[in-house]
Amino acid sequence: MEEKKTEGQLLKERLAYDTKNAWEKSSAEEREKAFSFCEDYKKFLDRAKTEREFIKETVKIAKDKGFVCLDEIENSGEKLKPGMKVYRVIRGKSAILAVIGNKPISDGVNVVGGHIDAPRIDIKQNPIYQDSGMALMETHYYGGIKKYQWVTIPLAIHGVVVKGDGSIVEISIGENDEDPVFTITDLLPHLAQDQMQKKMSEGITGEGLNLLIGSIPYDDEKVKEKIKLNILNILNQKYGIIEEDLISAELEIVPAFKSKDVGFDRSMVGAYGQDDRVCSYTALKAVLEIEQPEKTAVCLLTDKEEIGSMGNTGAESNLFENFIATLCSLTNENYSDIMLRKALYNTKVLSADVNPAVDPNFEGVHEKQNASFMGKGVVITKYTGSRGKAGGSDANAEFVGEIRKLFNENGIIWQTGELGKVDQGGGGTIAQYIANLGAQVLDCGAAILSMHAPFEITSKIDVYMCFKAFKAFYSYKA
Ligand code: MN
Ligand code: MN
Repeated sequence: MEEKKTEGQLLKERLAYDTKNAWEKSSAEEREKAFSFCEDYKKFLDRAKTEREFIKETVKIAKDKGFVCLDEIENSGEKLKPGMKVYRVIRGKSAILAVIGNKPISDGVNVVGGHIDAPRIDIKQNPIYQDSGMALMETHYYGGIKKYQWVTIPLAIHGVVVKGDGSIVEISIGENDEDPVFTITDLLPHLAQDQMQKKMSEGITGEGLNLLIGSIPYDDEKVKEKIKLNILNILNQKYGIIEEDLISAELEIVPAFKSKDVGFDRSMVGAYGQDDRVCSYTALKAVLEIEQPEKTAVCLLTDKEEIGSMGNTGAESNLFENFIATLCSLTNENYSDIMLRKALYNTKVLSADVNPAVDPNFEGVHEKQNASFMGKGVVITKYTGSRGKAGGSDANAEFVGEIRKLFNENGIIWQTGELGKVDQGGGGTIAQYIANLGAQVLDCGAAILSMHAPFEITSKIDVYMCFKAFKAFYSYKA
């Protein structure tokens, strides 16, 4: 027989905030759903290791689900009606999807916005050189990486090369089992006495991240740099490109390994690029399931967040505003600027991004009462920023209250989080750029371990809770 709860116990249950373990609070059926959801998630991550690949996959999946390119509708002179599903791709590197709701756009839309770029190493524009019997490529890292994590692991090259005649060659080497991979070497411990005395930030330098790409010389005694020439010859035979073409290229170096289950209990996903594809993917999957909502549901997938969201494919640009303007003009004969302003003001946004989970190996960087944990559900982060909240986005208490209520009413297990201890560091997301337009914005997403490392860890139940949370938000009526 269950022991009767004391008055104090009951009072505590009623009054005190307590986080829940989402595994414990989920039924066997829910757990099963989380596991199977993550099977697709892992496969998607392996197909979408760059922002361009994420967009390609998105368009494929969206078209299958009946989404139509917004530009086509615009050109056809057709109007948008409730229930219609549309998407727009911005320069191949960001995208916005929408399911048109019953209410006018000027009443605001419900947006879940994540970023689809991830920390990586880019290849420089004039990259190939020969040294010590090897050919290598010069690189420039992208986003906040700990450089030492990127040496001595198998790496793949993904991207596009725009040739002299304007044609585009797509490249992906290192993903298939029979493909070669590339790597960045590190110094043997025997000779690393000096290196090991350096600070971790200096042990491997940015200019020291040179990619090993070959070692066989071209067979001609008369030429210099025979190994480099042999590589150029292989690239020319395989892709029809010459060295100058690399100047108009975007080639990204990413880990060559695949997504994996982590743990004896397989409860976690280990993979490259989960910041922020864990949120982008769940936001995408959720919008695909929305049918004629009250307010228009919008999934925003942006590029360049890891370097500050700038540029014409980043959240700081007018891509979101332009999209809403297009929705306004295609749903109302009398488009006006004030209609757009109202739409933006009335818009509600979940800025979907990851939050650093407490890591028992690194005590002291979190204040545990306000930190997020693995497996405790989707994380709500009221504010970001560094030091005195500088450079952050701080959601209004009213909006946090709305979202808390929405999640509680929809059985979504959630927790509160922050970006580490005060004065420990910090950071930001795309939230501030959308908030600048007047919309209500709250940061919300999955807890993650080893953020920005080649192999990042999330909890499967959290991934699934993100999906559930975003789906509930797209259908939010208030
Ligand atoms: Mn992020
Ligand atoms: Mn990041």
